[in-house]
Amino acid sequence: MVAELISGLEYSKKVLTDVGIHIAETRKSHPNFNSVLAIVQVGNRSDSNVYVGAKIKKAKEIGAEGRLIKLPSSITQGDLEREIKALNLDNEIDGIIIQLPLDCNNNIDADHVIDMIDPLKDVDGLTRMNAGRLMRGELQRTIFPCTPFGCLYLVQQATGDKNYVAGKEVVVLGRSKIVGAPAAQLFLWHHATVTICHSKTKNIKEKCLQADILIVAIGKKHFVKGDWIKPGAVVIDCGINVDEPTEEGKKSKLHGDVDFEAAKEVAGFITPVPGGVGPMTVAMLIRNTFEQAKRRRLHHEFD
Ligand code: NDP
Repeated sequence: MVAELISGLEYSKKVLTDVGIHIAETRKSHPNFNSVLAIVQVGNRSDSNVYVGAKIKKAKEIGAEGRLIKLPSSITQGDLEREIKALNLDNEIDGIIIQLPLDCNNNIDADHVIDMIDPLKDVDGLTRMNAGRLMRGELQRTIFPCTPFGCLYLVQQATGDKNYVAGKEVVVLGRSKIVGAPAAQLFLWHHATVTICHSKTKNIKEKCLQADILIVAIGKKHFVKGDWIKPGAVVIDCGINVDEPTEEGKKSKLHGDVDFEAAKEVAGFITPVPGGVGPMTVAMLIRNTFEQAKRRRLHHEFD
């Protein structure tokens, strides 16, 4: 069996196009409506520059807006907190995201800074308020973290069934605040039975073999082997592992956490790296910003 490829590239275009259409529609009745994402970047990491540039470009393409607030590596915790407070109060800003990792010379408590974001301007669901609501299954009152949301969306779209997750065995590898843990909660509250694995989990292969849906987010190149996959399973690979070029002039190569070539022979559906979860994360960020803009500017309920 050769798995069906889930193109995050294609699905992300669909999400962004839909958001663009909705923004244009909303402007018919509310001409001043906007959807503005503020990206707070500390320092000048080259990978962060690429990610930030992609977010701003995609927002612009669909008639939304991304604004970069680039702060020096010398910034202190206090000054960074003041920047977030100012963005919370700025009526033009609908969403705030802090580009991680911070490139800072000082010790910064990133969790604390993230938690200062107004939950109504939180577009990655990482404030304690929104993460807590997700954990309690209060799905209408939170905002879904972008990468897990992208994973869920890909499963639903690829299988053609919005309720596909219900009743399925889902195994999540990784328990980070940004991917693994919220992915587990999101799938749980879409009625899956969820197993979470981490670095101390024993017999990971056996657990993976139980998965109807396998979500992998650990940051280890080709960690999941072909014979860890249940035949027909949906495999979603969040991993981004960079192989730097060995020769000058060559480009770096991206690899997932799953041994794609072997896994695709067994899985029913599988995401590639690159072109899988990565572009979905950006699309969901822009979608979430629009949802928050509607809630704050138009007092809409989340849909
Ligand atoms: P973290 O490093 O924060 O978390 C990694 C998780 O994997 C931890 O929970 C860790 O367990 C677990 N883990 C590590 N080694 C093993 C192992 N040998 N066996 C089982 N579990 C293990 O990473 P992130 O969650 O931030 O990112 C994971 C991957 O996803 C990375 O490659 C990252 O680049 C990528 N990513 C991709 C995004 C996208 O848009 N596509 C967005 C964000 C991340 P423990 O908790 O015990 O330490």
